[in-house]
Amino acid sequence: MSMNIIREAAINLGNIGARPITGQPFDVWQNRLTSTPLGQHLPVAPTPEELSGWPLDEITIWVAIAPTPPIADWPDGCGEIGSFYITSGQYKARRVAWEDAVIAAGYEIIRVRHGASLPERAAAIRAGLGVHGLNGLMIAPDYGSFVDITVLLVRAAPPADARGAEHDLSPGCDNCGECIKACPTGAISETA
Ligand code: SF4
Repeated sequence: MSMNIIREAAINLGNIGARPITGQPFDVWQNRLTSTPLGQHLPVAPTPEELSGWPLDEITIWVAIAPTPPIADWPDGCGEIGSFYITSGQYKARRVAWEDAVIAAGYEIIRVRHGASLPERAAAIRAGLGVHGLNGLMIAPDYGSFVDITVLLVRAAPPADARGAEHDLSPGCDNCGECIKACPTGAISETA
């Protein structure tokens, strides 16, 4: 059964890219996180094997990105917070539709939720959908960090084009330093 159906389903739902990666632990991301003052107080994210209970050679993680609608396109008259929640609801609906399409195609999946689960930005960087920004965000071509990242844990052997942990240290952003200057609290440093 070709996994192309997973990519097609993601693109048909408005994602601009969808790629498979392996289920190896996100050690580079975890080490970056724990090297920051805040990161030392955060729980260690479970590995894909721990989250699924599946063996590594039966794990494929699919990552998709979709552009975040510009604020000008957010619903009127709802205020910024209200508009944000409405827009987030659209992300959630798109993610659930993708999950349902993959299940309908015959795959077993884990419904990965935002927050205490797989690091979406690390997964998107491994997939080559963007690079690590000095500001700690994932920077995608043409959209910068204005993207919604969806991660899907699928029980299937990784296809030949699945990128592995060797890509986690991919080259970072342009290092222009604009975010350092722009940050009002000085939270971003050259070594982020
Ligand atoms: S250094 Fe420049 S390119 Fe990199 S995250 Fe900051 S603003 Fe963006």
